[in-house]
Amino acid sequence: MRLNIFKGSFTQQEPISEEGIAAAVKVLRSGRLHRYNAERDELSEASLLEREFAAYQGSRYALACSSGGYALHIALRAAGLRADEPVLTNAFTLAPVPGAIVNAGGRVVLVETTMDLVPDLVDLEQKASKSGARFMVLSYMRGHMPDMDALMELTGRLHLTLIEDCAHTMGASWDGRKSGSFGLAGCFSTQTYKHINSGEGGLLMSDDPAFMGRAILMSGSYMLYERHGAAPEARFFSRAKFDTPNFSGRMDNVRAAILRAQIPELVSKTERWNKRYQTVEACLRGIPGVYLPNRPLQERYVGSSIQFLFPGISAQKARAFVSRCAKQGVEISWFGDAGPKGFTSSHRNWRYLDPQSLPHTDATLASLFDMRLPLTFSIADCRLIGNIILRCLEETCAQ
Ligand SMILES: *Cc1c(COP(=O)(O)O)cnc(C)c1O
Repeated sequence: MRLNIFKGSFTQQEPISEEGIAAAVKVLRSGRLHRYNAERDELSEASLLEREFAAYQGSRYALACSSGGYALHIALRAAGLRADEPVLTNAFTLAPVPGAIVNAGGRVVLVETTMDLVPDLVDLEQKASKSGARFMVLSYMRGHMPDMDALMELTGRLHLTLIEDCAHTMGASWDGRKSGSFGLAGCFSTQTYKHINSGEGGLLMSDDPAFMGRAILMSGSYMLYERHGAAPEARFFSRAKFDTPNFSGRMDNVRAAILRAQIPELVSKTERWNKRYQTVEACLRGIPGVYLPNRPLQERYVGSSIQFLFPGISAQKARAFVSRCAKQGVEISWFGDAGPKGFTSSHRNWRYLDPQSLPHTDATLASLFDMRLPLTFSIADCRLIGNIILRCLEETCAQ
């Protein structure tokens, strides 16, 4: 059987809704684009976004900022990270995560990643003890949540302050509890390829008033913190305001307006993503030798991308498979390549870090494939994509 070539674009998101466009145009017409440029009796779009996203997340406080990487950076600073202190994080993550740690003055200590694409808790415990780290940035890379009961028990026992990188888990939960609500802080990205889209942007969430007070001052509040939508009481700023530098990284009202319109869509979007995910997954399940990362029953994920492993595949075959898929119009990334390609890079490419030996992560990455699933794909598209992957893997293996 000949398969059609897939014609869709793997980087094409859905358009912004008419409601979001109208809200953005309203801000543009007002001329009041800066978050603190509001009428005396109104809350700006940025403040309203904070209030609405805090309600969605069930968090007490929220801060809208310029990117997800920025949210991680000031989370570490506001948490009290000292210069050159070690910070634990997953070895399998995206470049802005080690970048945020370095930006905050920390030293990155990478934790091994398992075949289920989550941190190895045995390695985490060893590295925490050895490094004496007080902080962990837990990156739910590509939406995979570790056993959160075990992780929280461990971070509690090791006195690790947890900061969650929820760039791929907006809308996801573990045992009914939303990602981003487990640690001191949850950091979200609203960059185009994430779950809500304002081009660039980030959200920092916390229930800790002193922490959030410092974070708001750091984000560049020019002492206008009382105009925020989900901020702690003024007393949490009164002393900190003299000791806290301004690391400008605010969100503007245009982006906030675009995002506000998307929060009510998150539940239905999650269902639509998961239908696409499960369609591709059903095709991959039938392929001998393919390993799909375990998704525990407690995990409610958002399938905006899919990962699969082919343990034992050679570098040559992995490259051949990726290029075969590309010829059929299916864009797959392979994490085993030596050099960085677009968004796909690995810890070996982050040479600004101390070199670290991560044999298990390297074995995982050598066989790891990754694919985006934008909502512009139909279910039929996903079936075709799944069948193309199946065919291309068979052909690659037969060679
Ligand atoms: C996108 C992303 C971030 C941060 O994103 P920004 O581009 O800085 O908004 C952080 N972690 C992961 C895993 C990401 O994919």
